Amino acid sequence: MTLSVSPPTSSAVADLEAELVELLGARNVSTEPRARERASVDGARMSPIISELLPLGLADLVAFPTSAEQIGQAVAAAVRHGVPVTPRGKGTGNYGQGIPMAGGLVLDLSRARAVVEVGDGFVTAEAGTPMVTLERAAHATGQQLWMYPSTAQSSVGGFLAGGSGGTGSIVHGTNDAGFVAALDVVHGTGSPELVHVEGDEAQLFVHNYGTAGVIARATVRLEPLQDWRGLYASFPDFRSAQAVLRDLAALEPRPRLVSADTPEITATLPADPALPEGRASVRVIADERTVRRATEIVEAGGGRVEDVREGAQTALTLSMLSYNHPIEWLQKSAPGVYFHLEVSGAALIDRIDEVHAVYEGGMLHQEIGHSGPIGMLAGVYRSPEQVLDGIRALNELGVGVHNPHQWNVDFQLARTVETARRTDPQGLLNPGKLNPDYAGPTKGAVS
Ligand SMILES: Cc1cc2nc3c(=O)[nH]c(=O)nc-3n(C[C@H](O)[C@H](O)[C@H](O)COP(=O)(O)OP(=O)(O)OC[C@H]3O[C@@H](n4cnc5c(N)ncnc54)[C@H](O)[C@@H]3O)c2cc1C
Repeated sequence: MTLSVSPPTSSAVADLEAELVELLGARNVSTEPRARERASVDGARMSPIISELLPLGLADLVAFPTSAEQIGQAVAAAVRHGVPVTPRGKGTGNYGQGIPMAGGLVLDLSRARAVVEVGDGFVTAEAGTPMVTLERAAHATGQQLWMYPSTAQSSVGGFLAGGSGGTGSIVHGTNDAGFVAALDVVHGTGSPELVHVEGDEAQLFVHNYGTAGVIARATVRLEPLQDWRGLYASFPDFRSAQAVLRDLAALEPRPRLVSADTPEITATLPADPALPEGRASVRVIADERTVRRATEIVEAGGGRVEDVREGAQTALTLSMLSYNHPIEWLQKSAPGVYFHLEVSGAALIDRIDEVHAVYEGGMLHQEIGHSGPIGMLAGVYRSPEQVLDGIRALNELGVGVHNPHQWNVDFQLARTVETARRTDPQGLLNPGKLNPDYAGPTKGAVS
């Protein structure tokens, strides 16, 4: 692991291209400018701070392995040629974490998407498999994933390496808390071996952007399938909506998702009669057995249930209105105006007026996580300094903040640095993201 990696020489890139064509076939290797550009962007545009710095890197070539074994061979070839490798799933990570900052090879894993086995309590799949495909495979055996992100089309490798949680996290916490049963990982040592790791060893490769190893195959946890309903409620204002969230989250069996939005954010979501204008919205993926009690809670809190929907698509539709998605809709409604922070803590409910007042135009998209209230706080963007001042003010209010305007690994940093010394001695895996000295303005990451 080294701090900075030089861009590869053109002859190293050409040699690697020839070897990859041999390994993967010409259809699965590209040096076309459009393919290289497409492979060099992620969701970083959600951050006005990072947007000002784009483009932050451009791939020299893109390869599309179609199996876990080919992932191992392609990483090994790149390392032997001294070419940086940035793994890529669906490319929805939103901090620039998937941008190839030293150029080199982007390894697009979206064609390595075989579901290998669905067993009792687990599913094993190749890294590029979409989370929604895993959920469907689980359903076919009467099971469901412990969790999936609101970007349900994103890949299991990208979710484990770049994401943190989503639907189901209210029960199971983040994706570093037992969700991963085993991984097959490729190290940056020049060997194509898929190293099988389980338990604590597997955690070494979670949420560090592929800087310690490329996940080729993953085994994640399943649980028995429940009969879910999508409950849409509305309230005259955000405070009354927030007042029922803890009770809704405590329903037994537990809901899979509890989300809430201010009337202003709700107005930017896709039009739906269950999201009436001028009212705050609460959306719950609720176990069928709890719908009656949930309705009582909503009505006792001064709200009304707008709809209760069923069917396989319901949970997915509600998931795609959760976590960062409402912020994305808000940003689309007023391009270039809003930034956001990931926030956590009881103060998000107990001191919401003060939280909203920290930034001009402050608005919270609220979720309930495993340990309590979490969310995305949007505000009108003025400058990086304004964002940092606000983080300090939020911390003083007791709000934990994760700053999504930077691409450094900030989860278990020391552990990843130590692992990468062994697994990536030349620092060729996703260079630019693993900075041992990074000490950003993070106090309490969103869970
Ligand atoms: C609107 C919006 C909503 C979102 N909602 C959520 C949410 O609910 N929960 C959440 O956790 N995240 C969320 N995200 C962030 C992101 O979409 C998810 O984390 C997603 O699961 C990432 O998967 P991906 O396939 O797109 O990964 P990518 O963006 O392709 O990659 C993410 C990171 O992992 C690395 N990587 C990719 N594949 C591998 C691999 N096989 N091995 C090692 N490293 C790899 C990449 O280099 C990159 O650093 C959201 C983003 C947006 C824009």
